[in-house]
Amino acid sequence: MTLTPALATRCVHAGEIADPHGSPHTPLYTTTTFKFPSTAALLDVVEGRKAGALYTRYGLNPTIQALEAKLAAIEGAEAALAFSSGMAAESALFLAHGRGGIVCLGDAYGGTLELLSTQLPTLGIPGYFLLGDELDALPSVLKRGASLVFFETPTNPALELFDIEAISKIAHAHGAFVAVDNTFASPVNQNPLALGADFVVHSATKYLGGHSDLTAGALMGRKDLVMPVSSWRKNLGQTIAPEVAALLARSLRTLSVRVERQNETAMKIAQAMQAHPGIERVLYPGLRDFPGHELARRQMKGFGGMLTIEVKGGGETATRVADALRLFALAPSLGGVESLVTQPCTTTHHGLPAEERARRGISDAMLRLSVGLEDADDLIADLEQALA
Ligand code: PLP
Repeated sequence: MTLTPALATRCVHAGEIADPHGSPHTPLYTTTTFKFPSTAALLDVVEGRKAGALYTRYGLNPTIQALEAKLAAIEGAEAALAFSSGMAAESALFLAHGRGGIVCLGDAYGGTLELLSTQLPTLGIPGYFLLGDELDALPSVLKRGASLVFFETPTNPALELFDIEAISKIAHAHGAFVAVDNTFASPVNQNPLALGADFVVHSATKYLGGHSDLTAGALMGRKDLVMPVSSWRKNLGQTIAPEVAALLARSLRTLSVRVERQNETAMKIAQAMQAHPGIERVLYPGLRDFPGHELARRQMKGFGGMLTIEVKGGGETATRVADALRLFALAPSLGGVESLVTQPCTTTHHGLPAEERARRGISDAMLRLSVGLEDADDLIADLEQALA
């Protein structure tokens, strides 16, 4: 291994701890507590002079620590924390660094919007919301004291892109931090920290886990910024379970091959759907005529496994197409080995009034596709038979 191995190598080897029995991977330590030969040795860990295992809820468990070293290496971060869910990672970050107020740009996951718009304000933490065409107002919102700018890029379900480098410069000029939800892109396609962001959050439930069989979250960034979040995680009890940590580390070893194939298949599907007479519009950052294509080429290494198609004939036709799909399962998640379809107006954006969905550019005729690892031609054939 070189000092800076490529991503595929980091996925397999980073963070793995030596096992006296020769296991090539970090063993699973299910224990909640760890014993010490003396009080002096215990205090070395408690007082932070030595790294070591102590108590699982603190994250001081070798299986969790090994996972976090891998997560940090994969995003090119100094430090990472693993959480019980993506929402746990977000909420701990917001409480640690967003107390001056949080600006949310563009569309975001429904749980994030609910937390920022209705729950955190009851604790005195204001939420500010700017859509993509309202970014000129960002400096004035930051002047009101907001301490954190948060956004997804690409967004759900319109795949809108935000310029991480430009937004980070504006936020930093006003003394605010920037957190990017990198769930949709995955670290294979985008590394926000290298573009100037301070934090990356993931719903590891999606591409990082990759098999729709675990719920977890991750936060990556500079060590001095990540450590205060660790205290919130500890006392809110949001640490990942060691069993899930082992499963997530297992999944991360195949992350780059999975996502690279998902990128390729999504591109093939996007092109096939663009040529299909039953399709009004295809939203995919890899398509030349997609509005964010140039930005995608600048800040992404691959265009991702998520795309949205707009079906001719409106919402009811889209529902019929979704119901007629056989390989794409109708389920509201993403990033797994199996392809999934959702109609945003019936799932992720169901709670929003129709006018608000329209303001966000989300039509009832949209179907969001999460492309899995099935054969591309089989997936295209499935879409064609459903559209027919
Ligand atoms: N961020 C994005 C982009 C998501 O799609 C989701 C969930 O769908 C979350 C965060 C929340 O993640 P979790 O369900 O792991 O809490």
